[in-house]
Amino acid sequence: MIEQPYVYRHTELVEPDWQRLPGWADVSPRDWASAQWQRAHCVKNIRQLRQVVGDGLDERFYADLERDQAERATMSMLVPPQMVNTMVPHLSPAHPGFTDAFYADPVRRYMIPVFTDRREDWPSHPLASRDSLHEAEMWAVEGLTHRYPTKVLAELLPTCPQYCGHCTRMDLVGNPTPVVDKHKFALAREDRLTAMLGYLRNNPGVRDVVVSGGDVANMPWPRLESFVAGLLEIENIRDIRLASKALMGLPQFWLTDEVRAGMERLAKVARERDVSIAIHTHVNTAQSVTPLVAAAAKAMLETGIRDVRNQGVLLRGTNDKTEQLLDLCFALLDDAKIMPYYFYMCDMIPGSEHWRLSLAEAQKLQHDIMGYLPGFATPRFICDVPYVGKRWVHQVARYDRELGISYWTKNYRTAVESGDELALQREYEYYDPIHLLPEAGQEYWRSRVATPVAVG
Ligand code: SF4
Repeated sequence: MIEQPYVYRHTELVEPDWQRLPGWADVSPRDWASAQWQRAHCVKNIRQLRQVVGDGLDERFYADLERDQAERATMSMLVPPQMVNTMVPHLSPAHPGFTDAFYADPVRRYMIPVFTDRREDWPSHPLASRDSLHEAEMWAVEGLTHRYPTKVLAELLPTCPQYCGHCTRMDLVGNPTPVVDKHKFALAREDRLTAMLGYLRNNPGVRDVVVSGGDVANMPWPRLESFVAGLLEIENIRDIRLASKALMGLPQFWLTDEVRAGMERLAKVARERDVSIAIHTHVNTAQSVTPLVAAAAKAMLETGIRDVRNQGVLLRGTNDKTEQLLDLCFALLDDAKIMPYYFYMCDMIPGSEHWRLSLAEAQKLQHDIMGYLPGFATPRFICDVPYVGKRWVHQVARYDRELGISYWTKNYRTAVESGDELALQREYEYYDPIHLLPEAGQEYWRSRVATPVAVG
């Protein structure tokens, strides 16, 4: 047997025992399987977290969480029981090491961030911003981002069944926090959705619609179904992708009779019209892939849709190791039939420096996972470069490792550059976390911050 850096082993999926958590000790399998029960028992604040884990967490954790929520958090807290249950899945809160294990848990690290997780030197990159991908600037109609020549992103609603600490759409999605007020759609939902369909009818160059939010699992099913049915009536739309992290965070929703029957109706029409419908989910760790998640993904595939794909986000402390990423990809592929598709670098939103990886780290991870997975299931590692779009991490044009600045080019114009003759010649910048730079690079950024005019 040749020794390899990664050893593949098939591991049976297991639903962690939620009854190990004092607050859910009496919850029946029937309640656990209910989407309604899950939504009603989400953990939304510290008091509710206490109710669930009892005395299992030290006071220092709650104080740390409270300080983060007051001073740093860009997302409010919302964690469905299904996700809480995948944190420290093998330990009861009565175990003396529970607090340390909870601190170290990869799911906790991004779903329940605490103050001491974040960097004190650079909690945010000086060029971090709300709406760091400038999606709102590229709205063709409110909520419809037209950022690529042939595809659009339709943000149907600004809520999700779960809120991730690192959410790229922190500008719009979720409830306000003490440090971030949220953008509000100006138009009523019906007017926005009607305007989106109208735009797509009038723009035959668009063939691909990512139906997102937020998370489509928060849309009442009949309204979501009628919107997708509306897309299916538009001649030029060939690909429809429904974005839902809830396929993992709240698989119970995707397993309801209403949703399964509705997806079957949509899949049938899509097949008749030769259109592909897929679900895109967002799973970051292997321990999140449980039998319920696998059942939800398979139930969706059984409706006749084209695929279920995963777009994870690279996060330090969650999935920044080759082994973690390969374990995740194999769990998705082997047992849940979810196609590993993308791993995004975490976007440059405020408060994300402790999560972000450098471009060099992402390139190394891409290198190190090659050759283990089937080619069709080998995910691409992506840097979403502001004003450029998604680029594979090895497509960088130039890279100054001392200053942590990578330079990227683009090959199409968006509406914001329609009159910009140099758009396709220009280089666009992306930035590594400053704390990873050599001293000269860190000094460069300290001096830029000291001269505010240079920070832009
Ligand atoms: S599910 Fe997606 S949109 Fe919702 S909070 Fe998480 S990252 Fe943001």
